[in-house]
Amino acid sequence: RLPVLAVVGRPNVGKSTLVNRIIGRREAVVEDVPGVTRDRVTYEADWAGRRFLVQDTGGWEPDAKGLQQAVARQADVAMRTADAILLVVDAVVGATATDEAVAKVLRRSKTPVILVANKVDDARVEAEAAALWSLGLGEPQPISASHGRGTGDLLDLVLATL
Ligand code: GDP
Ligand code: MG
Repeated sequence: RLPVLAVVGRPNVGKSTLVNRIIGRREAVVEDVPGVTRDRVTYEADWAGRRFLVQDTGGWEPDAKGLQQAVARQADVAMRTADAILLVVDAVVGATATDEAVAKVLRRSKTPVILVANKVDDARVEAEAAALWSLGLGEPQPISASHGRGTGDLLDLVLATL
C-alpha cells in the first residue's frame, strides 16, 4: 500500500492548486469560488523516485453553515486514514477562526502534520507566514502553490515524514 498524504484546510486556500503542483498535472479542479472539490479525491504522485497517494479535500458550500465543523471533520478523517497531513493556510489572509478550529483538532494528531503557509508569492509575504506559528503546529512552511515557490522543499519534508 502506498503512503497517503492528505491535504486539508478551509476553502480557497489553494489546496487543489498545491495538489496539482504535487502530482505534476492539472487534474484537481481549481476554482475562485470555494467548494468545487468533491469530498475527497485521491491521486498518485511521485517525488524523488518515491510513489505516494495525495488526497485533495473540499466539497463545502461557500456559505455552508457549520463550515468549521465540516473542515474539522475532514481533519479528523485525515488523522485516521492518512500517513501525513498538510494543513494549508492562506498566509496573506492569516489565520481565520476556521483555521484555528482545524488546528485545534490537528494539534492532537498522532499522524504528522505539516503546516503550509500558501500564497507566499514573494519574500514580502514571509512575515505573514511566520505569524502562523500562532496555530501551534510548528514551523509554517512558506510556499506559493501557483508559482511553485518553496514546493520542492515542502515535498522533501513530506517524504522525510512519510
Ligand atoms: P482550494 O479551495 O483550497 O482547493 O483552493 P484552490 O486551489 O481552488 O485555489 C483557490 C484560489 O486561490 C484560486 O483562485 C487559485 O488560483 C488561488 N491560489 C492558489 N494558490 C495560490 C498561490 O500560491 N498564490 C496566489 N496568489 N493564489 C493562489
Ligand atoms: Mg479545491
